[in-house]
Amino acid sequence: MTSGNLRLTVLFSLSALAAAFKIVGGIVYGSKSLLVDALTSIANLVALAATITYFMRSLRPPDEDHHYGHRRLTYGGTILTLMSYSFVAGIAVTELMSPKPYSVSINAPILAVLGFATYSVVITLSRRWGKAFLPYSVFTVSELIESGVVIASSVAGALYSYIIDYAGAWVLAAYIFYELASITCDVIKIVGDTAPPQSTVQEITRTLRDLGLEPVRMRLRMVDDATLHGDVVIRVPPGTRVDEVNDLIAEAERVIKERFNADVTIALEAASRGGREGKEA
Ligand SMILES: [Zn+2]
Repeated sequence: MTSGNLRLTVLFSLSALAAAFKIVGGIVYGSKSLLVDALTSIANLVALAATITYFMRSLRPPDEDHHYGHRRLTYGGTILTLMSYSFVAGIAVTELMSPKPYSVSINAPILAVLGFATYSVVITLSRRWGKAFLPYSVFTVSELIESGVVIASSVAGALYSYIIDYAGAWVLAAYIFYELASITCDVIKIVGDTAPPQSTVQEITRTLRDLGLEPVRMRLRMVDDATLHGDVVIRVPPGTRVDEVNDLIAEAERVIKERFNADVTIALEAASRGGREGKEA
């Protein structure tokens, strides 16, 4: 086992332990807010496994069945995240639809605190272990915020009225739907072939002009948050030699790849090619 795998196993086991605390607190000690929180912890574990699996796959180089590379496989993790959170959101709503009075044991907030403490360790470790685990810690911070809501509402639920715990449960359920909506928007943006921000288009245009190439048509789309793909048709000053044009195009493709992580194919405008292919463009 590599140290990366070992660390991942430690983080996973601790996250599963935190989820277990919440499940016991929700089922045995009667707190509905803790139960909803437990459901999100389970969804979080599934989402994390899916995110890491598909992230690893997305790093593979292009091959026979993925000519453009595997970048978009990252969204396999995102889609499975949506599925797992949607599933638990359905369970949570069903659980909360019948507001019969119930009682919350004071043990429920104690288990909520244990869950909170365990997640804090997960976040501290994943930050200390460096960049590769950063997405993991970001992911888990929302678990901490949820734990905070649950601790407050289950304590009040145990000491005063179950209604406070019940309200806390609805707050968490609403938060799941908020997360679902925001992740869905992200996915739609990418599968919708959205162009990069106008400022990026302008910078790429400027980069081409600096090299003496005038873009007459540019098509760009986001492959993921940090990767672009597209094609550009350029015009060159009359009289530019073909070998010069070829060098400039190769240079432009390289620079654009380097600066903007854009996989762009550059072609010469048909009119510029004229009938002098042998000597001039
Ligand atoms: Zn492949």
